[in-house]
Amino acid sequence: METPFAAPSLSGLGQERRLTARTRAKREASTISAELDQFDIAIVGAGHAGAQAAIALRGQGYEGRIGLIGDEPDLPYERPPLSKEYLAGEKPFERMLLRKESFWEERDIRLLPSTRIERVDARTHELFDAEGESIRYGKLIWAGGGEPRRMPCGSDAGLSGVHAIRTHADVQLLRKELAAADRIVVVGGGYIGLEAAAVLTRLGKHVTVVEAATRLLSRVCGAPISDFYERLHRAAGVEFRLNTMTDCLEGEDHHVRGVRLSCGESLPADLVIIGIGIVPSIEPLTAAGIDTANGVRVDAQCRTSDPDIFAIGDCALHVNAWADSAEIRLESVQNANDMAKVAAQVITGTPAHYDALPWFWSNQYDVKLQTAGLSMGYDDHVLRGSPDEGSFSMAYLKAGRIVALDAVNRPADFVQAQKLIRARASPSLAALADIEMPLKTLIPTS
Ligand SMILES: Cc1cc2nc3c(=O)[nH]c(=O)nc-3n(C[C@H](O)[C@H](O)[C@H](O)COP(=O)(O)OP(=O)(O)OC[C@H]3O[C@@H](n4cnc5c(N)ncnc54)[C@H](O)[C@@H]3O)c2cc1C
Repeated sequence: METPFAAPSLSGLGQERRLTARTRAKREASTISAELDQFDIAIVGAGHAGAQAAIALRGQGYEGRIGLIGDEPDLPYERPPLSKEYLAGEKPFERMLLRKESFWEERDIRLLPSTRIERVDARTHELFDAEGESIRYGKLIWAGGGEPRRMPCGSDAGLSGVHAIRTHADVQLLRKELAAADRIVVVGGGYIGLEAAAVLTRLGKHVTVVEAATRLLSRVCGAPISDFYERLHRAAGVEFRLNTMTDCLEGEDHHVRGVRLSCGESLPADLVIIGIGIVPSIEPLTAAGIDTANGVRVDAQCRTSDPDIFAIGDCALHVNAWADSAEIRLESVQNANDMAKVAAQVITGTPAHYDALPWFWSNQYDVKLQTAGLSMGYDDHVLRGSPDEGSFSMAYLKAGRIVALDAVNRPADFVQAQKLIRARASPSLAALADIEMPLKTLIPTS
């Protein structure tokens, strides 16, 4: 088993680095201080991708020292419930943990929470936190995810009542402020904004969604899906301002009171939720001279321009086999998990490359949307079933080949479409539209 960084054993040192002050005190008192923060593999970012990388490394039988460094205070947890069951108060945070605390201890994966890496020195293989303390690594896996994009119309920082939905802390604060809020403006009609709108409407709030594009979910779905979701939300009481830009946030006594739209209208708001995407968290790698653009460029092995640094998950810019080899970032649990496994295999010497078929899901009200594949650049589409019945699918084709499918309350279509897309099948539009014909029957046999 490859152990990329040879340094004395750290066994028995536990989790001393939880608090910087505590670490400093320990270091002063310790004669083994030089050994405190050295990892054969340091993973920066303890979200889905980072946690899965650590799990996969141990799963591969890797015995070196693994440090899982994250700036959040919590144990690694799953994010999707943040805009769904957790926001609704239906799922306790403990049930969102990716693993119990004992799991990490038993596998000797050292968690370093509340630790933000500010600088990377790729030459000396060192990471530096906000206090300038260093952590040495043999190999580095960067899994920093992304930061919520801020409103382009000026700073929202000065006002309370303005929320992102990215972290446990974000939603804890949002939930605290919900009780006193009636009117909520959601900026952004993508997955997260719409999921939040569904939950908040169900909680009895008056929700208005502002979206710059002419339709909802425009980046990820075709028009029939957008129209279906618009009708679903309107029926539940959500209001929309589509094709509308925000101008600025309005506040009073340091609290947000409204959102001014570029058309001049002011939407009153007790709370504002900003759901306009993320900016990849990659600055330390960029500053270290690693090749970055709108993400950290990685090859099919999830390796960056530095052979000892890997990048995975939301922040990894890669050539995707299912996007006509376009360079993209994927923001999904599937991508985070599958990239983590590839990086772990490559580091432990098992040949692997990333070519997993992308898939996603979104829950709004009682409707589950499941997407297989990537629809970007599609030139034809066909519906299976009728949106009016609340259960239908939309297949996307490119040059006759099925490249993606959105399944709305049709889980069997989702599962079978994955096989169809992987088989690079070219079924006829008529066959795809026939709901009596299971999609699996369209998979070529040869
Ligand atoms: C509200 C919400 C709902 C979602 N719903 C779905 C869904 O239904 N289906 C789906 O497929 N996907 C969903 N996603 C997307 C999915 O959660 C992400 O794709 C996934 O979490 C990406 O994992 P990651 O590890 O790359 O990034 P993250 O999970 O964001 O983890 C990155 C971690 O790195 C930390 N970090 C960043 N920079 C540093 C640094 N310099 N030092 C230390 N730590 C750092 C961050 O704080 C964070 O904890 C959702 C995301 C959100 C926010």
